[in-house]
Amino acid sequence: MVPKIILPALNSTGNAFISLLFPNHCLVCNGGEIQSCDPICSGCFQKLTCIQIKNRVQELTIKDDIDVALSGWDFGEILRPVIHSLKYQERAKIGKFLGEKLGERLKSYSFPKMDYLIPVPLHPVKYRDRGFNQAEWIAIGLGNELGIKVIPHLMKRVKYTISQTTLNRKERLENMKLAFRITKNVKEKNIGIVDDVLTTGSTISSMATVLKDAGAKSIVALTVATPLEKANDTYT
Ligand SMILES: [Zn+2]
Repeated sequence: MVPKIILPALNSTGNAFISLLFPNHCLVCNGGEIQSCDPICSGCFQKLTCIQIKNRVQELTIKDDIDVALSGWDFGEILRPVIHSLKYQERAKIGKFLGEKLGERLKSYSFPKMDYLIPVPLHPVKYRDRGFNQAEWIAIGLGNELGIKVIPHLMKRVKYTISQTTLNRKERLENMKLAFRITKNVKEKNIGIVDDVLTTGSTISSMATVLKDAGAKSIVALTVATPLEKANDTYT
């Protein structure tokens, strides 16, 4: 005999559990009926300002060793609270969602060859406090969509960087080598570095310099958003 009566009970418990984990409301407008597990309702997602997918490396303040820089959306008033919730409310899920959406957009563009994707690493202390790295979740979503492998811990942050403004190039490189450790041979590899927001380019550029010094062939910076208004450069 099939115990049919148990199934609805299990279902409602299961749904309640899922709702607890993933509240069924839009994280931007706080409303919206979301049928899927998406963290943003379709109305709000449509309002995000898509920016043209093109190489924006020349727009960066610090671009050393970055070959191509691609971003999907303007880091404006709609996306800003989403990204902030991603960082401070521990919503790894939004990261994966935005990574997938970025991947969908890049697929319609002839994106450069990448052997694998790596996230911008968090300092171990921050990682311990937050329990996750948002850039890693963006990379996972993006990698799924583009069919590119993600290597989460290829680069580790081992030391806080000191201000580099007074250093010459050689000293800067030594400083960056102290800040990041590479855990795998990167010779001749084409690497995509993933983060949430691209502003000055300084962090990704530092990583790119260390990777190229270790023999990497090309570096692509991939971010969900970049501010079109460069007044937002103070965001870190
Ligand atoms: Zn919404």
